[in-house]
Amino acid sequence: MDHSLLLTGREPPDLVDIGTLQLERQTAAAFTQMQYAAAQDGFDLQLVSGYRSFDRQAAIWRAKLTGLRPVFDARQQKLDLATLQGFAKLEAVLLYSALPGASRHHWGTDFDLYDAAAVDRDYQVQLLEHEYHAGGPFAPMCEWLAVHAFEFGFFLPYRQYRGGVAAEPWHLSYLPLSGPYLQRFSLQMLQQAVENADLPEQTLILQQLPVIFERYVSTICDALA
Ligand SMILES: [Zn+2]
Repeated sequence: MDHSLLLTGREPPDLVDIGTLQLERQTAAAFTQMQYAAAQDGFDLQLVSGYRSFDRQAAIWRAKLTGLRPVFDARQQKLDLATLQGFAKLEAVLLYSALPGASRHHWGTDFDLYDAAAVDRDYQVQLLEHEYHAGGPFAPMCEWLAVHAFEFGFFLPYRQYRGGVAAEPWHLSYLPLSGPYLQRFSLQMLQQAVENADLPEQTLILQQLPVIFERYVSTICDALA
């Protein structure tokens, strides 16, 4: 298989359905085991988001840059992108949304999670930090994950803000696959994916691609910390 197509979301991995979402096969098996273990402790781990293709990420990117979807700042206040110039505009979107081709969700090894046992059935998960921090409904799940996730191969690549992607306590990654995938993933692969697409701000993206790759792809939290 051509890894550049897989790693940039232009070709799907071997996918398994988890409800209405999908994960890569080995990741899905490990997730199901972790789900079972968590259930013994009273948690109902459910996906908010799993595998995502390049085209899906491109639609999100387009909606945010054209104002069809809100863009939030680090304090989760709505931002008016029209007030930002040049790279600052891209940075605002990249805080919460990966560049198409550069999302770990393309790999099927990464997913967003919540605890369905902690909220009502009609609760709409917003993926905001206050839901996952102390006092939030999903804080006990986060404590459980901090102790147990690694037993199943999972870690939190965005546990803390490291200057690129915002802290995302809901985002887990299956290290046995995503570790090697990240090592293999290159700036050249990303450049080719972006060049072959039709994205808003494409010229600016290509100019800034080495910076984007370093800050939003290479920089993640260590698996063991
Ligand atoms: Zn995520």
